[in-house]
Amino acid sequence: MKTNLTQMKKSMIFSLMLLPGLLCLGQQPQQQQQPPASRQQTATGEQRQRPLEDSTIRMTHFQTEIWDPEVQMVQPAAKVGDPPADAIILFDGTDINKEWEEASRGGVKPATWIIKDGAMESVKGSGSLKTKRVFNDFQLHVEWKTPSVITGESQGRGNSGVYLQDLYEVQILDSWHNRTYRNGQAGAFYKQYAPLVNASRKPGEWQTYDIVFTAPRFGKDSTTYFTPPRATVFHNGILIQNNVALRGPTTFVGIPEFLIKKHGAGSIQLQQHGNPVAFRNIWIREL
Ligand code: MG
Repeated sequence: MKTNLTQMKKSMIFSLMLLPGLLCLGQQPQQQQQPPASRQQTATGEQRQRPLEDSTIRMTHFQTEIWDPEVQMVQPAAKVGDPPADAIILFDGTDINKEWEEASRGGVKPATWIIKDGAMESVKGSGSLKTKRVFNDFQLHVEWKTPSVITGESQGRGNSGVYLQDLYEVQILDSWHNRTYRNGQAGAFYKQYAPLVNASRKPGEWQTYDIVFTAPRFGKDSTTYFTPPRATVFHNGILIQNNVALRGPTTFVGIPEFLIKKHGAGSIQLQQHGNPVAFRNIWIREL
């Protein structure tokens, strides 16, 4: 019985596939119904036979065109890097507390970061900032600037970071002629993936990160990913992380795989690491 049903389904599908081809065949001029094998011109001018993949069914171009639903229009910004019409503005140079709060002793409090020249900046003793909203898959744009006066070296020079879902840090560092471990320099997924290249500008110049993030999915096991988080990052318009699969949360000490715990949507965080790093023009598009 089951076999008969399967055969019926197969023959119905086959008939449906055949129907448009037959209908169109009826409308095609005589010239287009032949030949059973097409001829292809090669670079040298000689011709060779190319058999049709299926001589029974001839497809038309209509059969592979998808029209609905129509792709939604999004008004792009006048200048690339500025937020398109469907973006959520996370910081436009005015009010920090509209979208952000500051991490404090396991909880949160109103932000104590300051606004200077349309940018927000951490102050001594403040905590990291985190968005009040939480996100899953997204496209994120962040502009940042390390101090023009160089102080410190290696990890102590312009250190901050953009955390995705509270757990996955894209390192911010003044990596202009500042050697440190390669998987900890600007654009690294901290201690997991070094950037493909060092696209850093000089300290004191504005830099951009454009990040595409696909959140992890979990199955029954809460300590392994069903599908891992994936990310692509552009630094100043240059590809530095190409669809990498994160191994687990980024961590200063330890093995990322051992830290995986089932989680849902999370905040974007801007790390306070003791260096005054400035941020402006931050926006996100949920995917
Ligand atoms: Mg950092």
